Amino acid sequence: MRDVAAYATAGAREPFARTSIPRRDVGPHDVLIRIEYAGICHSDIHTAREEWGTAIFPLVPGHEIAGVVEEVGSEVSKLAVGDRAGVGCMVDSCGECRHCLAGNEQFCRTNVGTYNSRGYDGEPTYGGYSTHIVVKDAFALRIPDALSSDVAAPLLCAGITTYSPLRHWKVGPGSRVAVAGLGGLGHMGVKIAAALGAEVTVLTRTDAKAEDARRLGAHHVRATADGTAFKELRSGFDLILNTVSAELELDKYLRMLDVDGTMVNVGLPEHSLSINLMSVVGNRRSLSGSPIGGIAETQEMLDFCAEHGLGADVEVIDATSIDAAYDRVVRGDVRYRFVIDTATI
Ligand code: NAP
Ligand code: ZN
Repeated sequence: MRDVAAYATAGAREPFARTSIPRRDVGPHDVLIRIEYAGICHSDIHTAREEWGTAIFPLVPGHEIAGVVEEVGSEVSKLAVGDRAGVGCMVDSCGECRHCLAGNEQFCRTNVGTYNSRGYDGEPTYGGYSTHIVVKDAFALRIPDALSSDVAAPLLCAGITTYSPLRHWKVGPGSRVAVAGLGGLGHMGVKIAAALGAEVTVLTRTDAKAEDARRLGAHHVRATADGTAFKELRSGFDLILNTVSAELELDKYLRMLDVDGTMVNVGLPEHSLSINLMSVVGNRRSLSGSPIGGIAETQEMLDFCAEHGLGADVEVIDATSIDAAYDRVVRGDVRYRFVIDTATI
């Protein structure tokens, strides 16, 4: 056991402060990663502010982790000292259920979250807002050479959470895809959907991000605030990827789906939403959702992003700015992911 420096919050209304947390000794199947960058996902904010329910405090969030391997266990062959490695939203799973065996650890009933969770040893897990992490090699990803660690870190959540549903619903040339919300997830959704060959439309509240959306790869951008887009784009999409972190009027979005179209929700707002069933009965539409992605698919996504030159657009911040960054994310004032330089911890 060693103590490492971290930034933690002591409660839902408490600011972040420097502290130290325990990391276990490196076991035969473990790797010790010196964290270089940790992305700030809106899920960190929902969790830290207890918008999703009770959290385990002190809380060290961070599930978009990129760094360098400093030590490996005796049985580790996947990674070597000096390799760059990433960690996403999971750090363990049972390894035996049908989901684990199929490489879908995200569906394992007893998988262990990178933070705000308890490992199989019963101890709380602590995330990436820290200098080091010890993780099973099976849950460490190889970061391709073509991606620097700052722009790779957000891929470990924002990248896989958008890549997985785009692949599951077989997005490719000829697909008409709308991405709702241009934040951390949304901007990766646009990049990946465009790289897969889809015709991509961004649905964003105002025109403020229109130029960015086109630069990121969108073919069309529509502001949603005045409501005209909902009428004009009726039955116009095969897939809507909803990355919005707040409550939306789902009916308006569902009615933009063509026959057999699907709205996939990855955004997880605090409160429940309701729909009028007319919105799915018409055009035989589907309303679905998708959680992160499996480890093998996360590696596939990293390799895909490297091949297509798709890093995240990041604003690197010091650890002392976490609270201010949270407020800016909530205001929609981030282009498009804050990443903590963990050397400042
Ligand atoms: P983010 O960077 O804050 O982006 C969310 C975007 O939603 C904003 O940029 C904004 O886009 C839009 N938005 C925010 N408030 C809105 C409102 N009141 N009405 C309409 N649009 C609004 O957040 P993120 O990190 O991308 O995360 C997005 C959501 O996905 C969060 O709820 C997060 O918890 C969830 N998430 C889920 C998974 C999963 O496994 N399913 C994984 C990671 C994150 P515009 O400015 O363009 O309108
Ligand atoms: Zn996340």
